[in-house]
Amino acid sequence: QSKKNGRDQFQFYQYDMNKVDIGKSTLEKNFLNAISNDEFKIVYQPVIDIFTGKIVSAEALVRWENKDLGLIYPEKFIPFLEKNGLILVLEQWILETIINDLKFWERYEDLLISINLSEYQFKNAKMVKNIKDLTGKKQLRQCNLCIEIKEEYLEENKKFIDSIFNDINSINIEFCLDNFGAGLTSISNLSKFPFKHLKIDQSLVQSLPRNSQNKNIIESIIAVANILNIKVTAKGIESKAQLDSLRALGCHYGQGYFFSQPLSALNFITYLTKNTN
Ligand code: C2E
Ligand code: MG
Ligand code: MG
Repeated sequence: QSKKNGRDQFQFYQYDMNKVDIGKSTLEKNFLNAISNDEFKIVYQPVIDIFTGKIVSAEALVRWENKDLGLIYPEKFIPFLEKNGLILVLEQWILETIINDLKFWERYEDLLISINLSEYQFKNAKMVKNIKDLTGKKQLRQCNLCIEIKEEYLEENKKFIDSIFNDINSINIEFCLDNFGAGLTSISNLSKFPFKHLKIDQSLVQSLPRNSQNKNIIESIIAVANILNIKVTAKGIESKAQLDSLRALGCHYGQGYFFSQPLSALNFITYLTKNTN
């Protein structure tokens, strides 16, 4: 059941589809059609070094463009796909698409692409091997992938995530703790796991520059991160005032509409080329 060929080639056999609980809803039916009709797109949102203005990475975000339903954002379908396990099917497509793009972008050697993986993925014992196989098949010279793990996923999946970190040494993938400071934050998560990046939740970022308590919180997050050699990205920067405030706090990287919306692969490369010239 794999699709024609080329960049969107998709392999269903990787997962036991019998374990996927397929009901009757239209969203589910639409979803399986959408995969074979190429309705999913990946957009890339640049992450900027706040001090040099250079692009350091981009976050890959998924979009669903359906001709009847219109443009659908991940928050509308990811929770549903997480419930029935279909998320693994989508994430397989996402990984293949991103690794394809990375192959095209090999000349931008330092460009790191980060991806959001669902909680489901961390329980998938074959996750690391799967990524290894995909990058091997594409003959990527180096694997410039960073996996974002939402902080709320960490607590319940420590055992699994531990084993992923053990596995990953052979493949050079980086990890980012996402949504840091959104919920129950524990500094110990930062020292227990080898995260290279953390992303400060946009609720904290968007309360700047006025909220001085949140300013102190961000400042102490950055202080801890610096001790542990972790790079801090502030998410959801929308204004110059927020950026100035983050710069004063010593935040390393930033992401948000102030710099750029998420862009198609083509527009992203245009943006990247302009930014490096
Ligand atoms: P996230 O990882 O927190 O991603 C950042 C979200 O903030 C994105 O929403 C992005 O478009 C949005 N954003 C970026 N800059 C700004 C800004 O300046 N202001 C505001 N208000 N928002 C901004 P998006 O693309 O709708 O994604 C929502 C969430 O869906 C993501 O949150 C992520 O958790 C999940 N998601 C997206 N793509 C994937 C995927 O491929 N796999 C999985 N498992 N989850 C995904
Ligand atoms: Mg959104
Ligand atoms: Mg993210």
